[in-house]
Amino acid sequence: MTGRPLVDIAGRKFGSLTARYPVRKDKSGHYLWHCGCECGATKAIRSNSLLGGRTKSCGCLSADMASHRIRARNLKYNRKGILRYRDSSAVDEFLAS
Ligand SMILES: [Zn+2]
Repeated sequence: MTGRPLVDIAGRKFGSLTARYPVRKDKSGHYLWHCGCECGATKAIRSNSLLGGRTKSCGCLSADMASHRIRARNLKYNRKGILRYRDSSAVDEFLAS
């Protein structure tokens, strides 16, 4: 037998992700797990990436943070008088107006 044994991480949470079931092994013998993200997306992620803490979302987490930063910066830069962007819904509302 080659490859690594299956580590049972079903039901475990890794950041925004919850591991559901193993999908298959990849070329290096690591299991890919079907994971559900809090944003609703699903993704197959290697168990060692989850266990090592490298993967904590489907990718939405970093994308979200980046876009919030950019929005906040634009807001500050463009409209110096209005600096209420503590939460993203306020920013959305503001940008939509
Ligand atoms: Zn996500």
